Order: sequence, then C-alpha cells, then structure tokens
Amino acid sequence: MPATLPILHDFPLASLNTFRLPARARHYLRVEGAAELEALRRHPSLAALPRLVLGGGSNLVLTRDVDGIVLHMAGQGREVLGRQDGRILVRARAGENWHGFVGWTLAQGLGGLENLSLIPGTVGAAPIQNVGAYGTETRDVFHSLSAFDMASGALHTLTAADCRFGYRDSLFKQPEGRALVVLDVTFSLPADWQPNLRYAELARAVEAAGLAAPTPRDIGAIVEAIRRRKLPDPAEIGNAGSFFKNPVVSREQCAQLLARHPDMVHHAQPDGSEKLAAGWLIDQCGWKGRALGAAGVYPKQALVLVNLGGATGEDVLRLARAIQADVAAKFGVALEPEPVFI
Ligand SMILES: Cc1cc2nc3c(=O)[nH]c(=O)nc-3n(C[C@H](O)[C@H](O)[C@H](O)COP(=O)(O)OP(=O)(O)OC[C@H]3O[C@@H](n4cnc5c(N)ncnc54)[C@H](O)[C@@H]3O)c2cc1C
Repeated sequence: MPATLPILHDFPLASLNTFRLPARARHYLRVEGAAELEALRRHPSLAALPRLVLGGGSNLVLTRDVDGIVLHMAGQGREVLGRQDGRILVRARAGENWHGFVGWTLAQGLGGLENLSLIPGTVGAAPIQNVGAYGTETRDVFHSLSAFDMASGALHTLTAADCRFGYRDSLFKQPEGRALVVLDVTFSLPADWQPNLRYAELARAVEAAGLAAPTPRDIGAIVEAIRRRKLPDPAEIGNAGSFFKNPVVSREQCAQLLARHPDMVHHAQPDGSEKLAAGWLIDQCGWKGRALGAAGVYPKQALVLVNLGGATGEDVLRLARAIQADVAAKFGVALEPEPVFI
C-alpha cells in the first residue's frame, strides 16, 4: 500500500494559500480519508517527515518552503444524520468548502451556521481555531468530530469538551493535539431556530432590511453582504482575514487605557476581562492603508494585512512585527497573530 501513495514532489503552494505567498512543498499528498494517513504512517521514509495539514490555506502565512509533506485534505461529502434532543445533526467531511457547506445547510432549511457565512476554508479546519464571526463560534453548533491520530494510528471521536475550544483556539493548536488530523465534523443545529443578533452591526443590518421574520437564509445573505463590503476577496487581493486576535486585557489595564484614550473600543467579557479591538489599536497607530514593501494594511479594515502583489512571507512578517511594535509602544498591549505561521 505505501508504494502506491500518489506523492507529488517539489509542489508549488502559492495557489493553495489565500495570501498567495510563494512556497514549495518537498512532498505533497491529497488526502481523501484515513486510508492514506494510515499508509503514510507506515511508510518507511515518509512517516518521520514533518507534516503540514492543509485545508483551504486561508489561515496560513508561509514564510518558507515546507521541508516535509503537505497533507491536502480533499475528502468531500455531507449528510443530515437526523434529530437528537431537539437538535438536527449534520456531518461534513474535512475537505468540504466551508461556505459551500453553510449554504447547503441553509438550502435544507436548517439554521445555525448562517452567521458564519462566507468564511473561506474547509470544514475540517473550522474546529482548529474555533472559527467565529458575527456572534457565533464553531463551538456553539459543534457536536463532535472524527480525527486520525498520526502518532498512534487510532481513529478518535472528540466531543466539544475534548476539543477544549477557546477564543480562536482549541486542543489542535496545543502540542498534545498536533498529531490529530480532522476527517469529518458533526454539527448540532437547532430544530427550533431563532436568529442570533447579539452582534450589533448584524442586528442593525437586519433591522435596516425591514424583515419582520427573517429566515436563516436571509441572515446568511445579510452576513455575506456585510463581509463583501468590509473584507478583501482573496480571489482578488491575497490575505488571510483578520491578522491579529483581539487582545484580552484585565479590567484594570482597560481602565488605565481608557483614561488616556476615552474612545477606545472595548467589550466586557463574562470573566471580568476586557476584549479590545485590534483593528482600532492598529488604526490609531496610523497603519490603516499603509504598506511596507509588497505587504500592506487593508484600507477598509486595519485588522487585515494584504499582499499588494509579489509579497513573500518575509514581507508579511516584517509588516506584522512593525505593527506589533507600534501597538506595544503606544498602548502597552501585545498583539498575537491569528494565522498559523510556517
Ligand atoms: C477573507 C478572510 C476572512 C476570514 N474571516 C474569518 C472569520 O470571520 N472568522 C474566523 O474565525 N476566521 C476567518 N478567516 C480565517 C480562515 O478562513 C479560517 O481560520 C478557516 O477555518 C481556515 O480554514 P482552511 O481550510 O483554509 O485552513 P488552513 O489555512 O488550510 O489551515 C489552518 C490551520 O488548520 C490546520 N488544519 C486545516 N485542516 C485541518 C484538518 N482537517 N485537520 C487538522 N488540522 C487542520 C492547518 O494545519 C493549519 O494549522 C478568514 C480568512 C480570510 C482569508
């Protein structure tokens, strides 16, 4: 079996990451499911190589070539599993396009994922950083997932508790979760759907649309329209979405910052901490619309770094570091990047 693995060599990755950063993979394998992963694990020379699991490449900054093997998750398929405790369970394989999957659930008349419309990438990657937008996170609609353990060869089923979801965080980002490759994800959608309009901008847009009883599809369309207005389309401008996480600071630090910057954007968290808006901090440092070489800050949204044409991962890194240094100097706040750096 290992001898038949369709490995490609010196494989270009520029078209497989939405930042369109140039890099090559020493080896490349399209993965449909557990069979290829098991064969790889038993392969005499390839098993020990460093691995990069790749979905849609929309949360990656490739700063160098991958001196190992890229596992490109390609498994397709989605199905409604049925009802359980007033919820409807739907499952999709890891390589399914996320937005396509969301649209498919909405077309079935199922609500729950509409606030997560138009997020690039794959279903398998959604739990990795607990993808979230407009007041909904993956964990809110998550049931379980199947993952192949490259270390032991075991196939695991993980619940939400097992996944240890946090803000743009999960088990899979920790050392003990790094050997897990997500094969499929099951979502638990409400049978009795209510719109989630906790996010003020979305609530305003729904009100402005004048819909007395919006459907999940209506909300999805409104989310799409907002996102198209605000965010660059990776098909036109290379980017990886929000480049930094919104920093969380103590109530005391927030109060000190507010004394100096009374209009600073901040949101109280249930645990008493305060979440600041990274985009606002970057904007205040004068970075919105500015460039450093071929990498720049998107003029309509300071949280998004873009490839202005021909940028390398090093260009993006240099810009990110300059922004981090300015925000730290002005506000004493450390910005942590959201994408995965290779
Ligand atoms: C324009 C734009 C807007 C965005 N908006 C949002 C947003 O609103 N909210 C948000 O949360 N994110 C957003 N993102 C980030 C990104 O879309 C998500 O993080 C998405 O889930 C990444 O999916 P992917 O398949 O492209 O993952 P990749 O970039 O391919 O991989 C990301 C990480 O997940 C790992 N991974 C991928 N698939 C698997 C798997 N099957 N098993 C194990 N590990 C895996 C990779 O190894 C890597 O570490 C945005 C990105 C862009 C470009």
